[in-house]
Amino acid sequence: MTENPFFRPSTLAYELPPFAEIRPEHYLPAFERGMTEQLAEIAAITADPQPPTIENTLVALERSGRLLHRVRVVFENQSAACTTPEVDRLDAGISPRLAAHRDAIHLDAALFARIEELHARRAGLDLDPETLRLLERRHTAFVRAGARLGADEQARLRGINAELAAAASEFRQNVSADEKARALVLDSVEELAGLSPDAVAAAAENGRALGRDGTYVLSLKNFSNQTELASLTDRSVRERLLAASLGRAAAANGPLAIRMAALRAERARLLGHDTHAAQVVADETAGTVGAVDALLARLVPPAVANARREAAELAKVAAADGVEEIAAHDWAYYSEQVRQTSYQVDAAALRPYFELERVLRDGVFFAANLAYGVTFTERPDLVGYHPDTRVWEVFDADGTGLGLFLGDFHARASKRGGAWMDELVTQSHLLGQRPVVYNNLNIARPAAGEPVLLSWDEVRTLFHEFGHALHGLFSDVRYPYVAGTDVPRDFVEFPSQVNEMWMVRPEVLANYAKHHVTGEPLPAGLVGRMAAAESFGQGFRTVEYLAAALLDWAWHTLPEGREVADAQEFEAAALAAAGLSVAAIPPRYRTTYFGHIFAGGYSAGYYAYIWSEVLDADTVEWFGGNGRGVRESGEVFRRELLARGNSRDALDSFRAVVGRDPETAPLLARRGLV
Ligand SMILES: [Zn+2]
Repeated sequence: MTENPFFRPSTLAYELPPFAEIRPEHYLPAFERGMTEQLAEIAAITADPQPPTIENTLVALERSGRLLHRVRVVFENQSAACTTPEVDRLDAGISPRLAAHRDAIHLDAALFARIEELHARRAGLDLDPETLRLLERRHTAFVRAGARLGADEQARLRGINAELAAAASEFRQNVSADEKARALVLDSVEELAGLSPDAVAAAAENGRALGRDGTYVLSLKNFSNQTELASLTDRSVRERLLAASLGRAAAANGPLAIRMAALRAERARLLGHDTHAAQVVADETAGTVGAVDALLARLVPPAVANARREAAELAKVAAADGVEEIAAHDWAYYSEQVRQTSYQVDAAALRPYFELERVLRDGVFFAANLAYGVTFTERPDLVGYHPDTRVWEVFDADGTGLGLFLGDFHARASKRGGAWMDELVTQSHLLGQRPVVYNNLNIARPAAGEPVLLSWDEVRTLFHEFGHALHGLFSDVRYPYVAGTDVPRDFVEFPSQVNEMWMVRPEVLANYAKHHVTGEPLPAGLVGRMAAAESFGQGFRTVEYLAAALLDWAWHTLPEGREVADAQEFEAAALAAAGLSVAAIPPRYRTTYFGHIFAGGYSAGYYAYIWSEVLDADTVEWFGGNGRGVRESGEVFRRELLARGNSRDALDSFRAVVGRDPETAPLLARRGLV
C-alpha cells in the first residue's frame, strides 16, 4: 500500500492536493494522525519552560495542525461537492470528534495562560500591526470558546459542541436524502408544458438515472422556489412541485432545529450572552442584536409594500387565466409573464448570449484583468477533485504566479445545492503558501454536444463566487489565521457582491454577451429592459430573503429555556410578528432545509448578505467614480481591502478604500426601498 497522500505536503504546483492519489480510505487515518500531531504540537508549546513569546506561542500555534488542515479542506469539499454514502458516514462520525479537538485546544488552560499573558503585555511588545491583530484575534477566539470558564462549565460546553456537530451533520444528510425522495415524478410529457426542450430532456434523463424510464423527474434544489415554477404552465404541477420543495425534511429536521436552537441558547448563556445571536454578533461588524434589528426593521415595511404592488401587477395578468388569487406557486410564473409583456424581457431569449465559456473568459476573467491586471492560464495538466473540475493558474500583472483557481460549474447528484467558494490552500508568507481556491456552482449540464447557456441569475452567481475567489487569491498576509476570506461573516459577502457589478458594466458586458452561434452582441435596449424588469422583482426577492434572515434571527434570539413545541408553528409566528408573512412569498429557505444556519456556518448570520450589501452598493458608486480609473480603483480596493484579509479591522479596511463610514442610501435606492 502506498503512503497516505495527506501525510506529506503536496509536491504539486502551489501545493494543490494530489487528488489523483486520494482515496476515501485515506481520510480517517489522516484525520486521526492530524489531530494527534496537532495536540503534540500544542503540548510542545505548553511544555516550553521559557516564558511565552510571540514566536514560541503565537507563531508556533500558527504553524501547528498542518496535516489536519490538509485533510479537512479536501474532505469538506468532497462531502459537499462529490459525496458518497461512505463519505457521508465518515462525516457523521468525524464531525463530533473535530468539535472535540477544537475544544481540546481552546480549553487547554496552559495554552490559554500563555496567550493571556502575551495579550496582557501586548502594548509593551512592540508588535507590528498584523502580529498585534493576530494576538487579539486569537485571544478573542479563546475567550469566546470558553477558555475563562470553570471546569464544570467547560465540560458542559464540550458536550454541547459535540452534540451540535453531530446534529449539524444529521441535519444536512436529512435534507439531502429527503430532497432525493421528494423529487417530483411526472408520467406524461404534457405535464411539463412550458419547460424548454433542454429542461424536458434533463427531466427524462433524471427519470432514467433513477431507474424509472419513461417518467420525467424534477429534482429539488436549494431555495424554496424552484426554477421550473417560472415556466410550467400546468398550475397543479406547479403546486405539487412547490409543495414538495416546502416540505423538505419537515419531519426529521423540525425537532432537530428545536434542539439545536436550545443548545445554542444554553451555550450562549454559559458564555455570558443573553442569546446565541448576541454571542455571534458581538464579534461581527454589526456588534449588537439591536443594530441588526434596526436594519431589518428599516427594510421590512417598504419591502412588503413593494411586494404587494408586484402582486397587484401579477393579479392583472393572472386574471386572464381565470386565476383569482396569486398563490405562492403562481408568483414566479406570472412574474415571467409580466417581464415578457410589460418589459419585453424573455428570460429564455437571453440565454443564447450567455454561453458559459464566453461569460467566464470574456466576462469574469476579463473584468478581473481590467480592474486588477491579472491573467489566467488553464492548466489541464493539473488534476481537480472531480472530472468536471478545471484548474487555472492566475498571474499578477507583472507575470508572477499568484495562485490556482479551480472551477467546478455543473450540478450533479453528489453535489449539494447552491454555489460557494472555499480554499484548499490558504495564503501565508509564514508558511510559504500561495492560495488555491475553488468555486462550486450548480449549472445544469446540457445534452451532449450542446453549449452551456446561462440564465441571468447564473451569470450573476458566476461573478459573485469569483469575487470570493479573488478575495482568497489576492490575500497578502503573513499569518494564515487572518488570511483571505477569514473576515467577519457580515463582511465576507461584501467583496463578492462588489464583483457582481462587472456583469452589467458596459465595457464588460459588450465583451462577453455575444450570441453563441452568430457572435452578435446582445440587442440594444435589452439590458436596460432587463434592469427595469429586475427592479420589478425586487419586492419578491427582498421579502423572500428577509423572511429567511428573520427566521434565522428568530431561532437564535430565543433565550435559554424558551420551549418551542413545533418548528412550523414557530416559523409562522416569527414571520407574522416581524410583519413579514406574505402568504404568496415563502421564505427563501424554511427552517427544515435551512442548511446555512443548521448545517453551515451562518447561524445568526443570514442577515449578513444584506448587511454586506450596504457596503457593496456604497462601493459600487465609489468604484471608477470621481475621475478615478477602473484600474486605479482596482489597485486601491485590492491593496486596502482584498489583500488585507482579517489582518486589520474590516470596517477600517472599508474606510481606507472609500474614505468614510458606510452609508445605507445606495442600498435603499438599489432595492427600490426609498
Ligand atoms: Zn457569497
